[in-house]
Amino acid sequence: MMKKPMSFTLKILIAVMVIIVVLALASYLFLKLNPEFGQNPDSATSLSFNQSVNYKDGEFINQVATPMITSDDSQISLLLNNIFGAKKANLKPQAELPTNKPNFKQLNINDDLFVWLGHSSYYIQLGGMRILIDPIFSKNAAPVSFAVAAFKGTNIFNADDFPDIDLLLITHDHYDHLDYPTIKALEFKTKQVIAGLGMRSHFARWWHEQNLQLKQNTKQNDDAQNLANIEHQTNKSPITEHISLKNFTSKVQEADWYDSFIMQNLQIIALPARHFSGRTLVKNPTLWLGFALITPNKRLFFSGDSGYGPHFADIGSKFGAFDWVTLDSGQYDPRWQFVHMNPEQSAAAAFDLQAKAFTPAHVGRFSLANHDWDEPFKRASIAINNYGYELWTPKIGQVVYLDNPPPFETWWHKAQ
Ligand SMILES: [Zn+2]
Repeated sequence: MMKKPMSFTLKILIAVMVIIVVLALASYLFLKLNPEFGQNPDSATSLSFNQSVNYKDGEFINQVATPMITSDDSQISLLLNNIFGAKKANLKPQAELPTNKPNFKQLNINDDLFVWLGHSSYYIQLGGMRILIDPIFSKNAAPVSFAVAAFKGTNIFNADDFPDIDLLLITHDHYDHLDYPTIKALEFKTKQVIAGLGMRSHFARWWHEQNLQLKQNTKQNDDAQNLANIEHQTNKSPITEHISLKNFTSKVQEADWYDSFIMQNLQIIALPARHFSGRTLVKNPTLWLGFALITPNKRLFFSGDSGYGPHFADIGSKFGAFDWVTLDSGQYDPRWQFVHMNPEQSAAAAFDLQAKAFTPAHVGRFSLANHDWDEPFKRASIAINNYGYELWTPKIGQVVYLDNPPPFETWWHKAQ
């Protein structure tokens, strides 16, 4: 009997199925083998997050309802619109941005200061501690090297430029805040990390196991002694109300909102932000944070990525007034209005925080939204006129001594 030839439709169907299986396998391998994607917490670890009021139905949640996208458009049409839609003319500066490159290793550790490294990255000296926040030394803020390129002239720092870092703070796991090559490069010069719940698993994929462990077991006694020292020095800090004082249990310490840690004269408080997380398609697997850094002399606040919300007034009333705050002020869009702030909202948030000085962050290095790259600076300069605090707009790399800030230029005008 003659074998019946396979129908053309069946052949097409089989070919399509083979392509789908190959694509799925390739995507799976790409995610598994490419370390850029990090590693989400395993299911046993995720189960433990149910103890947090910020975790529900298998994902972290915000304090108030926060739709990611506030547009009738579908996700696909938004994506297509972002790629092919009408663009502003001025998403990136044409010229190199003016920058400074200080010798970080020679900065006097007794000086309280900050250096903006572009976007949301900062080097801080406070209370005798050297701190990095969301450092990105890569040329791209994306898992692939052709996407989200940094502005011309802004790739001027690398891990070797810095002295050993006492504290590395990571606000959340998005690519423009948690950069795999940077974290790798900082592995052997970082003494302690603090990041949100679930974030340790990224470091577990990227760092050697021994670098996730605390070096000593006497940490608890140290912290108790440190607390006593601070109490002896001042009546102002540490803050014990509204927070949950924790001891370090890992070199990569996870924190829930309102968890607080003490390192010598420095108190760190992990605080709420209004945002989301994830480096893959898994929704909100890790917690996003803002940070308050408090010493007997100074109070600083970092919003991380955040939409505007009641949390700023709450943080201001509990932990303000802040000497300096730096807030998410760029990459805004009406279509994702609840997860990033526009400059008017961040100016209002600085007021809510009872700030004495405010610096726009999430600006000046990467373009992730359809607005002119310098618009946040221009709009913030006008918006702050409604309030009584100062606007500090350092150039990338400019050293800002908190007790003696330099004059600030409108440097973005020259970088068209
Ligand atoms: Zn983000």
